[in-house]
Amino acid sequence: MRVRIDEKDFINYPFLKESQNFVSGYAGSPERFLLTSTGKAALAHAKDRILSSIAGKSGLKAADRAAIPTDSQGIKVIVSGYALARVIISCMKDRMIIDRFSRSEAQNAYECLIDEEPGKKVFVATSLGIDIDADVVPLVSYVELSAGMREERWRLVNRDIERGMVKVKKNETDEILRESIRVTISRNLPLPIPLGICEVLAPVVKEISEAEQQHLLEQFGSVEESSFPPCMQALILALSAGTNISHPGRFALTAFLHNIGMNSSDIIGLYCRAPDFDLSRTMYQVQHISGRGGTEYTAPSCAAMRTTAVCVKKDQLCERVSHPLSYYKQKKRNDKKKFTAQSGNMLVDRNAGGAHGEKEACNGENIRDSRGHQQGEHNQENNKKNQS
Ligand code: SF4
Repeated sequence: MRVRIDEKDFINYPFLKESQNFVSGYAGSPERFLLTSTGKAALAHAKDRILSSIAGKSGLKAADRAAIPTDSQGIKVIVSGYALARVIISCMKDRMIIDRFSRSEAQNAYECLIDEEPGKKVFVATSLGIDIDADVVPLVSYVELSAGMREERWRLVNRDIERGMVKVKKNETDEILRESIRVTISRNLPLPIPLGICEVLAPVVKEISEAEQQHLLEQFGSVEESSFPPCMQALILALSAGTNISHPGRFALTAFLHNIGMNSSDIIGLYCRAPDFDLSRTMYQVQHISGRGGTEYTAPSCAAMRTTAVCVKKDQLCERVSHPLSYYKQKKRNDKKKFTAQSGNMLVDRNAGGAHGEKEACNGENIRDSRGHQQGEHNQENNKKNQS
C-alpha cells in the first residue's frame, strides 16, 4: 500500500505536488497573500531561504530542524515561503541564484530523506519518477540528472549502458534522488511572473541582490589573473595575441570574468585586443551576459567547456574541480597561502596601462557596466568592501 504524507512532511518536501496544492488551498493571489500576517512571515522566510542558499548553507542541521514550528500556522509560513522564494528568484532571473537555490533545497530534502521512513522515501522518489530499487536509469533521465553532477564517475563515458538504460550502483541511489529533486526544483525556473508582482517584491529583490554581490566579493575577492584556470588564461592569451576567439570561448570568458566580479568596462577593455573588435557589438554582448537583459549568466562547467573545445591545457588542479570558478577559488586560496605578499594582477593593473589603458585607447568613452557603475566606480566599491 502506498504511504500517504501529511502536512508536516510538506516542510521537508515543499516541491511535491501535494505541498503546492496545500499552498494553493489557502494563499490565493500573491498580492493579497503578501498583505496577510502569514504572507508577511512567509516573505521573511522566503528571503532567509534564498540568503542561506547564496551563503552556501545547504542542509538543515538537526538543531535547526528541531526549531521548525510544526503547528498549522508554522507549516503554512514555511511551505508558502518556499513558493514565494521561487517567485522572488524568478523576478531576479539570475542563473547563479537559481542554481544555488535549487542545490540548497535539494540538499535539505536529501538530508531529510536519508533518515526518512522507507514508505515515505518511496513516496517522494515515485513522485519524482525515480524507482529507488532499480539498478538502472533510463538514458534520457540520466543525461538530465548527471548534467549537474560534478564528479567524473557520473560522466556518461564512465558508465555502462545497455539498451538505453544506464547502470547505477545501489549506493548511488540517494545521490540520484537528490539530483532528481534539484532538477525538479529548477526545471521551470525562472517562472513567468507578472510585472506587478515583481514590483511588489522589488525591495526584497534589491536586498538579495546586494547580499549576493557582497557574498561574491567576499568569495572571490580582488581579481587575480594568476589564479585563472588554464582555459581562461589560454583565451586571454589568444586575445592578447590578436586572435579571434570562438563564440563559446567569448561567452565562457565573459561570463567567468563577470562571475568573479570584474566590471563590464574592464571586460570590454580586454576585447579591445581582438582584431575584429567592434565597441558597440562587444558592449552589447558583454552587458547582455552580465545581466542587463534581465538574465545573468554563469560560466559553463568543465564538462560544457569540453564539448565546445575550450577546455585546454588542463593541469593537476583541473582533475579536482568540475567548474572553472571552483578552480579559480581553489587556486586563489592555494596562492594566498604560498604568496601572501604577492599578487600577479596584470589584467587590471590600474597604475600601469593593461586593460584600462587599452580600453581608453580603444574608445576613450565612459562605459557603464550592467549595474550602472561607471568605469572605476565598481573597483573603488570592490576595494572598499574588501577592506571592510
Ligand atoms: S578542466 Fe575545467 S578549469 Fe581546467 S582547463 Fe578545463 S574547463 Fe578549464
